[in-house]
Amino acid sequence: MSDRIKAIEITEFGGPEKLTLIERACPAPAAGELRVRLTAIGINMADTYQRTGLYPVQLPAGMGNEGAGIVEAVGDDVSDIKPGDRVAFVTGQGAYAEAIILPAGAVVRLPDGIEDAQAAAILLKAMTVDYLFNDTFPLHGGETVLFHAAAGGVGLIACQWARHLGVSLIGTASTQEKCTRAIHHGAEACLILESENIADELNAASNGGFRVIYDSVGKSTYELSLHALAPFGTLVSFGNASGPIEAVSPAALASLGSLYFTRPTLFTFLMQPGWMQKSADKIFALMQQGILHAEINQRYRLEDVQRAHEELEGRKTTGCSIILP
Ligand code: NDP
Repeated sequence: MSDRIKAIEITEFGGPEKLTLIERACPAPAAGELRVRLTAIGINMADTYQRTGLYPVQLPAGMGNEGAGIVEAVGDDVSDIKPGDRVAFVTGQGAYAEAIILPAGAVVRLPDGIEDAQAAAILLKAMTVDYLFNDTFPLHGGETVLFHAAAGGVGLIACQWARHLGVSLIGTASTQEKCTRAIHHGAEACLILESENIADELNAASNGGFRVIYDSVGKSTYELSLHALAPFGTLVSFGNASGPIEAVSPAALASLGSLYFTRPTLFTFLMQPGWMQKSADKIFALMQQGILHAEINQRYRLEDVQRAHEELEGRKTTGCSIILP
């Protein structure tokens, strides 16, 4: 059974104008695969990095890294998932579409009570917070941490998760309105990143230096973050919202106090057998307890995806953005 679907594709790297709505065939699933009819699609900064070519993808490329929907067909050898099941997934590309073919092992089943839109908005972002807080630099409660872009998609979930762990999360954001939102979601305090005195404010908020800083802004905050660490502190660099960090200097890590630098990515964690399902189970349980939820503040149609990218890159969004195909 093949079907014509709408999808977003790029044939060249570049700005949002490169995102093109196309119509193409969506084949029947092969052995070990599923076809999922998408009901909601999550938008992530990583989608913009793939669009510009910062994160390599092979052209022509389908865009989009996460979504949720209903299984409408399964290939041979798929026995644990059946047509009609509600699922969500994190994938390398191709989620900006009405339907997608995925390996059966790439999806998680949605529990009752978790809406498709919530799952599509939260899964990739909450899995990121899961590994940042529980694997990369494990938090146990009582720590004071710095988290940049605290009012963004990943940011608000980090605020909620930090509150749950008993961690004082100091956020940064570009406006007071964004800071108020971060505090509402659980940040202990939130500082305006572009403030003239930001270095002093960070020093005061951390009592002389943070043990860990989670920095997804990249180029423009790298120096600020390094200088805001306490001796033996860890800089967890996990994104490039302002552009990639050009070089990390071992001499600077030494002179600023035996610092640690790490650059993790969710996809390494997803490749660990069993990790995705374990993380999803944890996230769904926290959602069912009312501890985590996606604040979906931007909703688009597939036709509006260029505007969605402009707003995300233009720092005009808060919380999560989704496409309703
Ligand atoms: P966000 O919703 O957080 O949007 C990005 C935010 O970054 C903006 O809203 C803005 O907040 C801030 N920002 C600061 N400087 C700039 C700039 N020059 N240009 C644009 N934005 C800027 O996006 P996501 O929730 O999708 O992702 C957050 C970050 O986490 C991204 O950098 C993403 O790449 C990273 N990430 C990394 C993963 C990994 O495994 N390594 C996985 C998932 C996400 P403000 O205006 O308040 O400063």
